[in-house]
Amino acid sequence: MKWIQFEYEGNTHYGVIDGEMVQVTDLAWEDVLSKRPFTPLAALPLADIQPLNPIGRPHKIICIGLNYLDHCRETGAVPPERPLIFTKFTTAMNDPDGEVRWSAALTQKVDYEAELAVIIGKNGRYIPESDALSYIAGYTAANDITARDLQRSDGQFIRGKSLDSFCPMGPAFVTADDIPDPQNLEIESRLNGRVMQESNTSQMIFPVAKLISFCSQAFTLEAGDVLLTGTPHGVGIGRTPQLFMQNGDEIVVEVEGIGSLRNWCRVDDGKEQPLIS
Ligand code: MG
Repeated sequence: MKWIQFEYEGNTHYGVIDGEMVQVTDLAWEDVLSKRPFTPLAALPLADIQPLNPIGRPHKIICIGLNYLDHCRETGAVPPERPLIFTKFTTAMNDPDGEVRWSAALTQKVDYEAELAVIIGKNGRYIPESDALSYIAGYTAANDITARDLQRSDGQFIRGKSLDSFCPMGPAFVTADDIPDPQNLEIESRLNGRVMQESNTSQMIFPVAKLISFCSQAFTLEAGDVLLTGTPHGVGIGRTPQLFMQNGDEIVVEVEGIGSLRNWCRVDDGKEQPLIS
């Protein structure tokens, strides 16, 4: 099933995409995750709906760096011997069609990263790789937006990865039964219509099952946690000349079977941005 979240009659609702229509439900995100049965409240044309981030606010966003060989090469990094883990704060989460905002006083090197996002469906530790896919509730697309200047100058990633609005996800949450093989999905990004990244999840150094097993040796995975699985080659910092996003740019991340995540860049003039609730 393909779930989206959206506003309807003043409230947020989850709905199931059914062809050109959306079946509106009264389920909360936890209900979607636990596959609670539902009776549709209404049916709306998909074209009339403005989707929101489809996966609620997770306990944690686990990110994997340098998980595609060509991306290691373009950034001059040695391919890791084991998964490289970092995180983004959950206040960075953003909607499909949302604005990606930053202050030019804070960063001038904002980059895109198309990624397959895995949503964990049940709690687990010490998960064997052979059983890891059974812990997946579903998938969405993510853009691991990064302030490269902060990422490099800080020596560790978290500030440069965690600016408010720097983690758009969506447009749909696709249940795992609809994507039986997460290692064979086309993935791409387009900046103002120009293809910047074009690859397939088959090119991951560490596949999704390995990542889940590896993480769970160290910490508890909880239902709703999100795992960003790394980005392929073609990011702005790896290009010649380097290319970073500018005010007014449109950035699209597309993952096969999930859809297109479209966001707009807005560079603030230093005014305060709103508090994330
Ligand atoms: Mg990334």
